[in-house]
Formats: sequence, C-alpha cells, structure tokens
Amino acid sequence: MVQAKIRLYVDHPLSEGQTVPLTKEQSHYLFGVMRQDNGAFVALFNGADGEFLAEVTKANKKNGELVCRAKTRDVQMPPDLWLMFAPIKKARTDFIVEKAAEMGARRIVPVNTAYTNAERIRQDRLQAHALEAAEQCGGTYVPEVTELQKLDRLLADWDETRHIMFCDESLVGAAQALGDVAGGKWAILIGPEGGFSQAERDRLHALPYAHAISLGPRILRADTAAVAALTVWQQHLGDWS
Ligand code: SAM
Repeated sequence: MVQAKIRLYVDHPLSEGQTVPLTKEQSHYLFGVMRQDNGAFVALFNGADGEFLAEVTKANKKNGELVCRAKTRDVQMPPDLWLMFAPIKKARTDFIVEKAAEMGARRIVPVNTAYTNAERIRQDRLQAHALEAAEQCGGTYVPEVTELQKLDRLLADWDETRHIMFCDESLVGAAQALGDVAGGKWAILIGPEGGFSQAERDRLHALPYAHAISLGPRILRADTAAVAALTVWQQHLGDWS
C-alpha cells in the first residue's frame, strides 16, 4: 500500500469512500505549501475513526477535496492520564502542551493555582499545538486542551477514583516514590514557577488519592518537570512499559 508522507487532522467523519472537504488553511498548506496534486496520497485522521489513506481528487488552494481509499490504522487511545499544569510563559506553555500530546496525555488541563502568573490562556491556540503534535508524532488521537481551571474548584469536584501524581517541589531530593500504585485513571499535577502554596500542599497531601512525588535532587523548570513527570508515569504505569 502507498505510504503517505503527509498526515493531516480533519474535523470530519472518516470511512472508506468518504469524500473529505478541506478547510482553506488545509488546502493552502497541501496545495500551496506542500505542492501536492491530484492523485497524491495523504494520511487523514480525526481522533475518533482511525487513520485513512486518502487520495487528492480536487487540488485547489481554497477548497480542496480528498477521498478516503483505505483504512490504515485504528484509533489508538492513550492511557487515561491527564496533565494538569499551571501555565507559565507563552512559549513554554506551548512546549508543555506539545510534549503532553506527543507523550500520551489523554487530556491537558491548564490550572490556576495560588502562585500562577498567567491569568489567561488562548485555549484555541493551545488546542492547535496539541493537534499539530499529534500530526507530527503519528498519533491517531488528539488530547483535549481545556480552558484554564481553578485548582481549588477542580479538587472540590474531584472524581476520587482518579489518582493524582502530585509533583511536590518541597520533596526535592527525596527518593522517587511512585511506589506500587494501581493503574487506572490518573492525573499529573505540575505547579507554576512560584511552586505550590503551603495551603495547596497541605490540602493535596491530605487527599488519599493524591501521591506526592519527588522529581529528583534538583528543582526543575515547570516545562522540564512536566516532561519528567510524564516520563516517570508512562514508564511506571503507562503504555511505554
Ligand atoms: N519555585 C519553586 C521552588 O523554588 O521551590 C519551584 C517550582 S518549579 C519551577 C515548578 C513545578 O515543577 C513545581 O511546582 C513542581 O510541580 C515541579 N517540580 C520541579 N522540580 C521538582 C522536584 N525536584 N520534585 C518534584 N516536583 C518538582
């Protein structure tokens, strides 16, 4: 079977024989930038129906069209893992979202904590980063990036069957202690540049479903900590081991 070099996320149902209209941006990218023509093949995925090999049937820079010729992969769901992180500077927040999508987070939840600097986020821009990361890394699933949520509110309504891997910088230097915990539904929690307040720390330590862990003997930047925590979790409980 033909191997498509280009992968494109489309917000459209996919099935064999399905005609898929492209947006203006996708048409410009495929036919203006990537110079594809009629008869070329592209891998399409929508995060739900799997991946399809699709043939260009209308190479038009404004409103191109493809037809799905064959299903090439089923959708591969990542583990039920959320990444909750306090937004930091824009570029580094973009980085955290991109890495979380590549590393197998199912949901990405920007959280407002006591010491979080960024009052607002551009959820649409962050969602686009997650989508581009999925296109690039071969993922067939795109994690949802939620709106900015208050940590207090999230914890007040928490589903107690979802464990929390609480990356607590005050444990810096302590042994890495995820220990023998169960799999299932999890969320990683990473704080802001200013770290967690003592009230937040006390509250989280008191939660039976929160597991406070160290990420080694040095204080990591929040974006480094997010990648390190995702690696520890995936290696220990996720779809990497
Ligand atoms: N201002 C804090 C301080 O100096 O202690 C550092 C906060 S750190 C830049 C941002 C977040 O990364 C922390 O809230 C924590 O979630 C995580 N983090 C960084 N280093 C860590 C470590 N050694 N162990 C556990 N978590 C860590």
